[in-house]
Amino acid sequence: MTYRIQRVPIAPLGMINAFLLQTSKGAVLVDTGLMGTEGKTAGQLKRMGLGWDDLKLIIVTHGHVDHAGGAAKLRALSGAPVVIHEAEAKYCAGEAKMKLCPTGWVGRYLYRRGLPMEPYTYFSPDIVMRDHDELDLRPYGLDGRVIFTPGHTPGSISVLLDDGQAFVSDLLASGYALGGLLPVDRPQRTPFEEEPHEVAKALEQVLEMGGAQFHVGHGFKLSAKAVERHAARLRQL
Ligand SMILES: [Zn+2]
Ligand SMILES: [Zn+2]
Repeated sequence: MTYRIQRVPIAPLGMINAFLLQTSKGAVLVDTGLMGTEGKTAGQLKRMGLGWDDLKLIIVTHGHVDHAGGAAKLRALSGAPVVIHEAEAKYCAGEAKMKLCPTGWVGRYLYRRGLPMEPYTYFSPDIVMRDHDELDLRPYGLDGRVIFTPGHTPGSISVLLDDGQAFVSDLLASGYALGGLLPVDRPQRTPFEEEPHEVAKALEQVLEMGGAQFHVGHGFKLSAKAVERHAARLRQL
């Protein structure tokens, strides 16, 4: 498998990331950023020598606005199907409010400002993953799969490639505050987290399945060692 990972900086300094995975068959997008940030994805596609038609799949890891907010627009522009887990469908359809459990002052600050509750263009997915379903990514040119990794939210999903590259979105973050002001191999909890023990379980599962390098929604990539330490810390909570 030849492919290329391209981080899409939705916000600078790794504050909010999406990822484009370029393959011989086009590209797969992991997360869509906030509403109105489709230009960031367009820019990266262009830099990779691709256009909207080359985008073949849009994976929305969970229903929070900074990951799902751009999905409707990106689907309209590219025609690519959107995949989410069944447990997030009602949030992405705007039929239910997400439970936001702050993990510290950043979460409480964002919550007070109402930012995580910002409405976005809601959507119904084209592909729905149920329970512990996996989605094989080989038809899209990637040796890997989408797996169920709940905890941050009830229907969080991650991408795990056979070579150990893992895209776990908000299972954990790195750097200072929301993003990667300090791009060091230092994990931290995201500002909101529903079930820390479930997150620990999900991270351990990804490690067991061969996860070696962890790409996150906020911050810079983390090593398996750092993720292991973080999971152990969550277990103590
Ligand atoms: Zn989130
Ligand atoms: Zn997030």
